Amino acid sequence: MNTMYITHHAGYLHEMGVLHPDNPKRIDAISDQLIMSGIMSYIVSYHSFSRASDKDILRVHTLEYLNYLRSLVPKKGSYCYIDMDTIMNSYTLDAAFYAAGAGLFAIDSVFGKNFNNAFCATRPPGHHACHNRAMGSCFFNNIAIAARYAISKYKLKRLAIIDFDVHHGNGTEEIFADDPSVLMCSFFQHPFYPDTRLIHSQNMCNIPVDAYVDGAFIRDIVNRKWVPAIESFRPELILISAGFDAHREDDMGQLNLHESDYKWITDILVEMSEKYSSSRIVSFLEGGYDMSSLGRSAVLHIRSLAKL
Ligand SMILES: [Zn+2]
Repeated sequence: MNTMYITHHAGYLHEMGVLHPDNPKRIDAISDQLIMSGIMSYIVSYHSFSRASDKDILRVHTLEYLNYLRSLVPKKGSYCYIDMDTIMNSYTLDAAFYAAGAGLFAIDSVFGKNFNNAFCATRPPGHHACHNRAMGSCFFNNIAIAARYAISKYKLKRLAIIDFDVHHGNGTEEIFADDPSVLMCSFFQHPFYPDTRLIHSQNMCNIPVDAYVDGAFIRDIVNRKWVPAIESFRPELILISAGFDAHREDDMGQLNLHESDYKWITDILVEMSEKYSSSRIVSFLEGGYDMSSLGRSAVLHIRSLAKL
């Protein structure tokens, strides 16, 4: 497979205080392990691309919300707290525009036939961001912005969003509930943050799981729930909210996945992409806060995307 690794300097400048678990070192944890793994020479790395435009953002978020975020940008050296998890410094909004832009760059690249798939190692993450609300360290819903862009520009009728973060992708679910062009499949620890109401709609295959379940339990859900849903939906594009905080070494949650489980799930998604979406996958970094397991898991995810 021709696989892209996309990251941007703006993601290093966005930080929410030294004690915040979502910090710029997460990107280094991934890129260091990628270099160590020796697979960098088999994938193509990009650090430069355009920000998303206001028009791209407004396919998902309201103008009032975008103006609200703009009004909050603090002066250099200070912070603006939206909530205890979601904090802006003077670079945050710029980083958010680039994190959304990474997805659009990846979409154009996989439809331009230069690449089969892409992993966007960008910050801030996106899957908690609702159409008019920032939360859970998320400002723009990057995967939703990419989905709407792909539907609009490439006239897609069906795309699948897969979310394997330990947390419920409540923002993505809210944005696409009852949208027949999108199938969303996820599992998430429950009860757990964000503890928002689960929306039951036809196009949502979001499975709450108890704390402490292991990879075998999750693989069974993927086989019994996700795979049949994807096969009957036949997506023309697969997008992944790739959070690695369900890893057993990540204290953020209490699920017991191993990096080999992320490889197994990704192998299944690659197989589905070959069957239905001309191998097109765009994956977005969401959570993952234990540096060692984050790096190892992301490398196996990328290795699987690249079929290395
Ligand atoms: Zn998470």
